[in-house]
Amino acid sequence: MSDDLSVQQLLGPTGPIARRLPDFEPRPQQLEMATAVERALKERRHLIAEAGTGTGKSFAYLLPAAVHADTHQGEGPVVVSTRTIALQEQLEHKDLPFLHAVLPFEWSSVTAIGRNNYVCLRRMELAERERHLFDDPERGDQLRKIVGWSMTTGEGTKQDLPFPPLPEVWEEVQAEHGNCLQRACKHYDRCHWQRARRRMQSAQVLVVNHALYFADLALRIAGASYLPPHRVVIFDEAHHLERTATESLGLRVGRTTVGWHLRRLHGRRSERSLLARHGSATAKILWEEAQQHNEAFFAMLEEKLQATGQGEGQALRDELLEEPLTPVLRALSTELGTAAVRTEEVDARMELQARANGLDSLCSVLRALCVPNPESPTPLVRWLEPGRHGPQLCGAPLDVSQTLRQHLFSGGVTAVLTSATLGTGADAEFGWLRRQLGLDHCDTLRVGSPFDYDRAVRLVIPEALPDPTTEANAFRREVVEHTLHHVLQNGGRALVLCTSWEFVRSTAASLRPHLQQAGIDLLVQGEAPLARLLEQKRSNPTSVLIGTDSLWEGIDLRGDALTLLVITRLPFQSPGHPLTQARMQLLKSQGREPFGDHSLPEAILKFRQGFGRLIRSSQDRGTVVLLDPRVRTKAYGRRFLQALPFSPDHDPTT
Ligand code: SF4
Repeated sequence: MSDDLSVQQLLGPTGPIARRLPDFEPRPQQLEMATAVERALKERRHLIAEAGTGTGKSFAYLLPAAVHADTHQGEGPVVVSTRTIALQEQLEHKDLPFLHAVLPFEWSSVTAIGRNNYVCLRRMELAERERHLFDDPERGDQLRKIVGWSMTTGEGTKQDLPFPPLPEVWEEVQAEHGNCLQRACKHYDRCHWQRARRRMQSAQVLVVNHALYFADLALRIAGASYLPPHRVVIFDEAHHLERTATESLGLRVGRTTVGWHLRRLHGRRSERSLLARHGSATAKILWEEAQQHNEAFFAMLEEKLQATGQGEGQALRDELLEEPLTPVLRALSTELGTAAVRTEEVDARMELQARANGLDSLCSVLRALCVPNPESPTPLVRWLEPGRHGPQLCGAPLDVSQTLRQHLFSGGVTAVLTSATLGTGADAEFGWLRRQLGLDHCDTLRVGSPFDYDRAVRLVIPEALPDPTTEANAFRREVVEHTLHHVLQNGGRALVLCTSWEFVRSTAASLRPHLQQAGIDLLVQGEAPLARLLEQKRSNPTSVLIGTDSLWEGIDLRGDALTLLVITRLPFQSPGHPLTQARMQLLKSQGREPFGDHSLPEAILKFRQGFGRLIRSSQDRGTVVLLDPRVRTKAYGRRFLQALPFSPDHDPTT
């Protein structure tokens, strides 16, 4: 047991970590954060902890998490939530094995992923029996490979498969909510999903991702749950919480969503589908009708969207959308339910009932998106949005803070929120973040980075550039000219951050011929998967990477691969999106100022993230070129500069 162990001992100069790592140097920032997390867990107080790049945040929260889990057994796991599955894997394969090896007590940690990632052996057997359902040989071949793999796989997850399966193949074999026989299943003892569930239930530290955590929160609000009950959650990269909560608590339906539900029942040419074998004549007619209504309804929405020409989406406000789908889908669901009761074949019964339940859920979502409900205690903002496969009907809570306040922060769970960027400069108490998330009372901590930014970074802000909002074309030309100048002077080794895809494409097109001439490769986001671009950037350090949104954060390019960062424009979010507009309206109605209370802090946070791409280790050095003149010409401009991690009396600009 770890009763008498403190994080000071564990992280101190004579602790187990220092003994194991010969070049270990105690970092005061790390120790300060670990101590604050330890105190927060002990005293059951929420904590917001901002810790600059290089602090060693993961150890600073994993250590107190492990100690707390060990000393509070029986209270459920300490849940650690990261932004992505990739970050979960990093903890699972790097940080956690190390801590297991060095900590002087036994404890368990488990990584949780969603149920659909596990193979269901019963459904796989069923799919194999009905292999002829797949009319193309590639799908049949994949199914055969999955069956072979299932004999040897330890984890039984999609990620463990040696190839990425086609979605329509995996859907036939995945474990599903409402489609499990539990103990009555003959595969129960070997079932990967059931085993993972048991491991999850008994874990002391449970590593999840934000999307899974908030999907579970939505389930808990509805009276169910996926994750085990717990009293502590630690969110890493917590600046993403509001966005993830909005997405997880939001709704989205397109033509392909409805088509997916229908396709799982029956393919037009298939005579052996679930519907063909078990559905009544009425069910088959309803299926045909649903297909036609699906096409007609979304074609109507397409026209509606085109008529208004709103690029980012069209707000639906109080508009009632007449949709013919729900009555047909409900009737089809009833028919399937009846067929399920009639059939004696257990597997078919389970499939029919699962498909019927799926249609019922789809109907609820369609109603919520088509029919305004002003009486709802958590109003939904509804809008139409263009998508790759046609229009999407979307909805998101107007304000997630009320839901999080009630169901997360006042729900008996102690929450620790951490990231390298949570504050917006002068905002010492993280007021903006707390308002967004509904976190009224918490301790706060801010520890700076151990990196010496005063020495490591030179900041260049050219004089007299055109304003990007009023002189867009002139600004665009100047951006290309200045970027080219600095990139050539630096011998490439640059990252160029833009704020829109259109700007990325046009700037890249102008830069490319000049860089080619200089023998510098230009890597453009969108021209290849991001992971491949990053690989190319690392293996070819003089290359230049240009992109938008996702490049502003989370990418790690060290040393020679990145010594020049060009920030073309301050990252204000476009105010044209219906959800942004509705939230701005809400702020106004509350007597607040949308720009100062929302747009500006949000942009400052993103700007800090972008700036943070340059210095990733204590050896890194480089130049930041900031091409948006508004940092000089606007009153709010200084707030961006003040939010950067330089000493107050240091002037980094040249
Ligand atoms: S126990 Fe459930 S998930 Fe596991 S194989 Fe059986 S039906 Fe599938």
